[in-house]
Amino acid sequence: MNCSGCGAPLALNQPLCPACGLHNAVDLLAIGEYRVLAERSRLQCPNGCGDLQLLQLGAGLDLAAGFCPQCKGLQFAPGAVQRAVDRVARQAREINRERICTILHQRVSQASGRYRSCPVCRLAMDRRAYSPNIALLIDECPRHGTWLDAGKFTVLVEWLEAGGAQQAQEQADNIQRLDQAIGHAPRQPRRRVAPLTVLRIVLAGAALKGLATGDFIPLVVLTLIIGLGWRWLR
Ligand SMILES: [Zn+2]
Ligand SMILES: [Zn+2]
Ligand SMILES: [Zn+2]
Repeated sequence: MNCSGCGAPLALNQPLCPACGLHNAVDLLAIGEYRVLAERSRLQCPNGCGDLQLLQLGAGLDLAAGFCPQCKGLQFAPGAVQRAVDRVARQAREINRERICTILHQRVSQASGRYRSCPVCRLAMDRRAYSPNIALLIDECPRHGTWLDAGKFTVLVEWLEAGGAQQAQEQADNIQRLDQAIGHAPRQPRRRVAPLTVLRIVLAGAALKGLATGDFIPLVVLTLIIGLGWRWLR
């Protein structure tokens, strides 16, 4: 990936160009083909930058998306992120475990920050992990789709290209095989009421009676017995 300003090579996790200082829209660079449908729209950036641009994403995607020219975040219609990522990512030929590990540990931030409002309806969006296999936090409005902060789309693409989906499938298969090998765990036998529990209840009754008649010494003794009995029996 190269800087869209000066052409200098860019590290994947470095949207800021070290040569010219341009904040590159790495996700748009990853998507490749797109055109601006409208410079402004009624969609608002959830980071408070103002109006989002409307883009037509190319490369056979036939998808419109909101794009913030300031913070470089992207707004997708419901279900559109997965379609776009699947289309943009090159098919992984093998599982690159080292690369996946690096992506999960260095690129997937756990910091959750504050809840933000949907670019369309302005209600607070839900925040969740993108999938059980990659804990990339995304913001989602159930009605209006998904907001991805700058760089998150690229992380998803990188993860797929490194074979993340295949690795997840492999892990699911392993768990299933293990389950089958172990079989169902034997049922726990029903617990009987221990005779000493009955004794404790009787003692507690006696203690209460002592309390009712104002007789404190048996009350203290019985409380001690109950307390100690409890420890021994657990
Ligand atoms: Zn540059
Ligand atoms: Zn913004
Ligand atoms: Zn909404």
